[in-house]
Amino acid sequence: MIITIDGPVATGKSTIAKKLAHEIGFIYFDTGAMYRGFTYGLIKHHIDSDDLPAIEEYLKKFQFEIRVKHGYRHYFVEGEDVTDTIRGPEVTARVSKISAIPMVRDKLVAIQRELSSGVNAIFEGRDTGSVVFPNAEIKIFLTGDAQTRALRRYKELKEKYPEKYSDLTLEKTIEEIKSRDEYDTNRKTSPLLKAADAYTIDTTNLTLEEIVILILEYKDTKPYLTAKIPPLNM
Ligand code: C5P
Repeated sequence: MIITIDGPVATGKSTIAKKLAHEIGFIYFDTGAMYRGFTYGLIKHHIDSDDLPAIEEYLKKFQFEIRVKHGYRHYFVEGEDVTDTIRGPEVTARVSKISAIPMVRDKLVAIQRELSSGVNAIFEGRDTGSVVFPNAEIKIFLTGDAQTRALRRYKELKEKYPEKYSDLTLEKTIEEIKSRDEYDTNRKTSPLLKAADAYTIDTTNLTLEEIVILILEYKDTKPYLTAKIPPLNM
């Protein structure tokens, strides 16, 4: 079974996906980390975001791995642990432009579909319900007031990466999330879009726990989950 969670920046997608996965014993995949990992690879190899032939070449070599260490997920690009680096300002500033390139999306979507084979998984990102897994059994779309999301992201970055974001202000965070949302929503190839059959949750005034409960309740309304259990022959 596949569950997808999509939505704009700082709606809590990763934290919710992680918590939900833990509750129901699913694996979870943060597709944003893959776009960030690819962007990091380009920066590392000094490949310009407009140099399409070099990007095409790098796509053939790109190696991305997820390994669990002491219960935490670590992301590797070409064997290098980039878990923290991909959350830094350098990658964040470039990732939306890179993610809008169709050949990049084709490759990463193919990887995501491969990862889904034979497992119960939650995928979170921007287009996982609309493009990557149009037949997913459960699709969630998270929304939230921009001001609240910016404050959430600002606090998170200051707490987790105080050095990387020492000169970050709330105003800069608001600008950054607005510009990323705009880029992600207006690109031609698989923009941030609510799938027609997705369940929308406005996260503005909800805690993470409340959101996870709403998703679990929604999951329980799906009849096929119980319909497959055969009656006991007594
Ligand atoms: O989710 P996160 O903020 O880490 O994603 C980083 C960026 O990766 C997004 O702003 C978006 O440009 C891109 N992305 C995407 N499609 C996805 C997931 C992320 O284009 N499925």
